[in-house]
Amino acid sequence: MNRLTIDAAEFSKAYFSRLKRVIEQMDVVENDALVLSLGADLPWLIGYQAMPLERLTALVVRKNEQPVLVVPALEEPRVSLHGDLFRVRPWHEYEDPFEIVAGALEGCGKVGISDRTWAVSLLSLQTKCGAKFSPASRVTNSLRSVKDPVEQAMLAEAAERTDRVAQAIIDGEVSFIGRSEIGISMEISERLIAEGLQKVNFAIVGAGPHSASPHHEPGKRVIGHDEAIVVDFGGEFRIDGSVGYCSDITRTVVTGEMPDRFLELYAILKTAQLRQVESVRAGISCESVDELGRSYIEEFGYGQYFIHRTGHGIGIEEHEEPYIVAGNTDEIGAGNTFSIEPGIYIPNLYGARIEDIVIATETGYELLNKVDRALHQVG
Ligand code: ZN
Ligand code: ZN
Ligand code: ZN
Repeated sequence: MNRLTIDAAEFSKAYFSRLKRVIEQMDVVENDALVLSLGADLPWLIGYQAMPLERLTALVVRKNEQPVLVVPALEEPRVSLHGDLFRVRPWHEYEDPFEIVAGALEGCGKVGISDRTWAVSLLSLQTKCGAKFSPASRVTNSLRSVKDPVEQAMLAEAAERTDRVAQAIIDGEVSFIGRSEIGISMEISERLIAEGLQKVNFAIVGAGPHSASPHHEPGKRVIGHDEAIVVDFGGEFRIDGSVGYCSDITRTVVTGEMPDRFLELYAILKTAQLRQVESVRAGISCESVDELGRSYIEEFGYGQYFIHRTGHGIGIEEHEEPYIVAGNTDEIGAGNTFSIEPGIYIPNLYGARIEDIVIATETGYELLNKVDRALHQVG
């Protein structure tokens, strides 16, 4: 990848170009205005993330007008301005922020509002404003799912740092035998922070029979010899003045001898995942990528044990569009960034999953996670 220097100036440029695309898309879905509050749309557009509190933060975007960020006065110091991208309207505790937002929406008939806005905020706004509201995702999803160069660089950086932890695991630097899942999960979290991620989103460690539970909550169970362990972890990488971008990787390791059936299952999984990764290019449908791995796993009789979709988009959120799942006929476009994470889980016995993040390009894909997928034995 042509890795650009990620700095605040690059982000500023990106925000202006995103705003332009948002306004074009508002036309397409016939929205007169957008109200962005909680969730990832707001930080994606202006680099500012609203605190998930009862005090209202909302960016009002209208055509031919400078967007205005209505923000609690006490949080104004956290706002970084980017030229004339938007202006700030701090509100004081004696004011009604919903009046202010309703005022900014005057004359608007159709308004998109962030999907994650609290219902109580939308209800308050509706008592003061006669507009018809719809989910802002109708405007933002198709734009946010295509990562621009700054976002691709952030995701690559997050993946690279996360890979170093996965590499340490397969290299045997993390000991498993005799330790609890939760203890290992904590060590993985610490290593992610040491690699420069600001936040850990999750560190799943599922050992022995727990490896058959895809989203196992790590517990006190102590890991023994001859077990399979699924480790799936990710966090957020951020530079000052930007929002964080997520990482997500899964590897499966073993603590000794495993039955032939497990080794066979793992070989099938590894081939299926590789087939899926290598199928990625602009123009292929999401469901075809799912099907390519699923049909291969089915051929060997393990279809019923692949119990989840193949993958999810990733960006500011851990899970976002596009979803790589049966029934999703959407075509993948260049810049879509998502996980390929098939798994095979034999209940109460063992399971395995392999997960990598890929960016689709016009002609193929770029793999963000580069850690070996062969089955490694750890101690
Ligand atoms: Zn998951
Ligand atoms: Zn994962
Ligand atoms: Zn994932």
